[in-house]
Amino acid sequence: MQEQKLIEQLFTLDRKLTELRSELKVLKDSHEPERLEQQLNNLEKTIENQEESLTEKRRLMKTRELESEQYHQEKKQLEDEMYSGKVTASKELNDLSEKIKDLHQKEQQSFEGYCELTEEIDNEEKNLEQNQNKFQDIKKELDKKSNEIADNKVDVTEKIEELKSKREELKQQMPERLLTKYNSLVNKFPRDAVVKLFEQEVTCACGLELSTERYSRLQVEGMVSCDSCDRIVILTK
Ligand SMILES: [Zn+2]
Repeated sequence: MQEQKLIEQLFTLDRKLTELRSELKVLKDSHEPERLEQQLNNLEKTIENQEESLTEKRRLMKTRELESEQYHQEKKQLEDEMYSGKVTASKELNDLSEKIKDLHQKEQQSFEGYCELTEEIDNEEKNLEQNQNKFQDIKKELDKKSNEIADNKVDVTEKIEELKSKREELKQQMPERLLTKYNSLVNKFPRDAVVKLFEQEVTCACGLELSTERYSRLQVEGMVSCDSCDRIVILTK
């Protein structure tokens, strides 16, 4: 193969390798899964607290319900006693009536507590369900993201290995002096060590024009060094 073609291919390959390596670095440095995991942890704690609160409120609701029922029964007993006709003394009747009033109030309070708790539990159950759904969504997103990153890492690593072995093959075909020159140029100008010029173009990456002599040689040989910066200049058809 012509030296000019070899250099052109080697440089294209090296540029691609640089690109892939930075792509791999971005993948390795990705904080996205970490961020999602943090969200999951926070949400898990919230859900745990909500579940505890719900358990406690359901227990309390049951207590209020039983209390209310108990006051109701006690009140009924006293009412039966009061209207049985067995109690006739007005002081006793008054006492009974007071007790009934008191029990009625207590029954009402317990029942109100029960109703309030029912409403709170309803709301909290809705919140809990929302958070549980959100948890599942984030978990799915995390799985998807992690798989995506892992797959991409494999892809990019494979491509890098492939290009590296192609690069070795190319190197085998290149004369030592050209390779040495290329390597030192790449160190100096990683982005544009090799400059491709099309027909009629005369300006190098350094901004200077090739001398007429070098330009003529470029037309004939297809590859020269820049007069000023020494970059490899090749003619591209
Ligand atoms: Zn130059």
